[in-house]
Amino acid sequence: LHDSNKIPATLIPGDGIGPEIMDAVRLVLDALGAPFAWDVQQGGMAGIAAGGDPLPQATLDSIRRNGLALKGPLTTPVGGGYRSVNVRLREEFQLFANLRPAHTLVPGGRFENIDLVLVRENLEGLYVAFEHYIPFGDDPKAVGFSTGVNTRAGSERIVRYAFEHAVKLGRRKVTLVHKANVLKALTGVFLEAGRTVAVEYQGRIECDERIVDACAMQLVLNPWQFDVIVTTNLFGDILSDLIAGLVGGLGAAPGANIGENAAIFEAVHGSAPDIAGKGIANPTALLLAAGLMLDHAGLTDHARGLRKAIDAVLNQDKVRTGDLGGTASTTDYARAIVQRVTSGL
Ligand code: NAD
Repeated sequence: LHDSNKIPATLIPGDGIGPEIMDAVRLVLDALGAPFAWDVQQGGMAGIAAGGDPLPQATLDSIRRNGLALKGPLTTPVGGGYRSVNVRLREEFQLFANLRPAHTLVPGGRFENIDLVLVRENLEGLYVAFEHYIPFGDDPKAVGFSTGVNTRAGSERIVRYAFEHAVKLGRRKVTLVHKANVLKALTGVFLEAGRTVAVEYQGRIECDERIVDACAMQLVLNPWQFDVIVTTNLFGDILSDLIAGLVGGLGAAPGANIGENAAIFEAVHGSAPDIAGKGIANPTALLLAAGLMLDHAGLTDHARGLRKAIDAVLNQDKVRTGDLGGTASTTDYARAIVQRVTSGL
């Protein structure tokens, strides 16, 4: 039974460094007074060990019940024919939006003061996987064939999500990224739907458009001109890693997968088996993912407090883990954030 004032949420510690960074995140969220009642569930190798499935039924039931989950990285077993857990979750819960913010944490990288959000459509486009080969002569794979599908309804939904996110977080502009000059049907549908939705936000949120190739160049030449970017599945996949590169790589990149009835938050990095169990992993990406979860649950003050504390610890206290050039352990770093949170900064 849960305390009725608390928000029930599923927590999957995950594999490798997962349990270490999840402990750090729980320490910080407790200090913040984040009102989550955690329902701890298995996934990944722990799920396989317990019942032969990296995504056990009890875990799926828990996410369905709670509609909210924080997930540690899961090791994808090599061989054994397991389908990707992330793809299964996306399909199972129709997680149509992938949210990938990129924010400069520590100065001294190639770019300063980056603060971007990329919203990627997660269920349509060229990822629907209507794929096959056409044989020719002796070659059974002479031609590779793929079909992309974008629907007006799916496009409107993702663009509306991007605008609503912009409104909620007080952002100023949404950029529609497409390739409608060439893929006239596939991405034309997205662009038209996007323009229709943009009209509803006129006067509140600015809207502009970019062709994806030009956008990639402009992100490198002048990323500060962008604010929220919304795009189709494949373009979003590529551009989200590009913007992670602008702020120093995947190490501190959080992500969220959002549907109508469920939302799952995670770090973009994997289970880092090379450093697992050493207590030196950087929990920042998972902490930032927890920040997105706080935003999503409407706890924006908690989310802001968390981000401020991370910034203060990294840049004023200069407590950093080894991947950021420091010497702090995972726990040292988490305790420094707790210190900032409890002292009111
Ligand atoms: P990885 O992200 O786990 O590691 C890449 C490198 O980055 C390693 O050197 C690692 O030590 C370092 N690193 C990653 N996270 C770090 C952190 N928080 N602090 C300090 N250093 C960190 O990628 P990989 O090695 O290619 O993948 C390992 C496993 O993770 C694979 O089984 C893969 O399938 C899985 N994976 C899972 C997810 C997910 O669950 N979302 C995402 C990516 C990879």
